[in-house]
Amino acid sequence: MLGWLRRIFAFDHRRAGDAAQATGLIQQCIETLSRKLPIYRRLPSADLPRLHELIVQFMAEKQFWGSGGLVVTDEMRLLVAAQACILVLHTPHLGLYPRTKEVILYPGEFGECVEAVGPDGRRYEICDDKIGETWNRGPVLLAWDSVRRAGWIDEDGHNVVFHEFAHALDLLDGYADGVPPLENAAQLAAWKHVFTEEYKALVFADRNGRRSFFDTYGATDPGEFFAVVTEQFFEEGRRFARLHPALYSQMKGFYRQDPASWSRR
Ligand SMILES: [Zn+2]
Repeated sequence: MLGWLRRIFAFDHRRAGDAAQATGLIQQCIETLSRKLPIYRRLPSADLPRLHELIVQFMAEKQFWGSGGLVVTDEMRLLVAAQACILVLHTPHLGLYPRTKEVILYPGEFGECVEAVGPDGRRYEICDDKIGETWNRGPVLLAWDSVRRAGWIDEDGHNVVFHEFAHALDLLDGYADGVPPLENAAQLAAWKHVFTEEYKALVFADRNGRRSFFDTYGATDPGEFFAVVTEQFFEEGRRFARLHPALYSQMKGFYRQDPASWSRR
């Protein structure tokens, strides 16, 4: 139990006098992040002070709830906050997920189950198993076992926290349409052109059983495509940049980060 983290909730990050106290508390996070979140060790050293600041802010501002019998620990809060904050390290103009006030953690997959009756009269239970969900102007829901695994296994292209918080960024303008808030009309035009071409190529590959660098779940709709390419941008930057340089460049422009250049410290 990281009891010291409890004090962060009472900490007002805006008061300059508390800066030293915050620094001391954050030092104790670093060991946990280094051990349990390998991507933390790939981030540029120059990004770490900003990441630590954002984690403190995230943990102070967002409410965490456990569901399905899960008791939320300080370490769970820390690992969710750290992964969510990596996405917005260099986009202060977007705020810190201003429309997301709550994070709800489940022990594992979650979703509604409905009862169905088969042609033979037998009753079945069909469950909508999810590992994450993001509501417009509502909470982010996450399966803790998937969050833990996503943090632990780096560079495999899958990260449920990146995925759901990419949806939260996409939803800042109210639409999960794969177009996050962009700075100007020229950037928007370039984004739409490149993004649409790549999305159509993935849909075509998926329908024809062809392999693609991008996870075929991204072929569901443009909103899912943005969430999937965000996962792969941060987890597999080098391959992404080599195989899809035009989309990589758009993602790099939006997130103002270059994961292809990261190397393990
Ligand atoms: Zn999704």
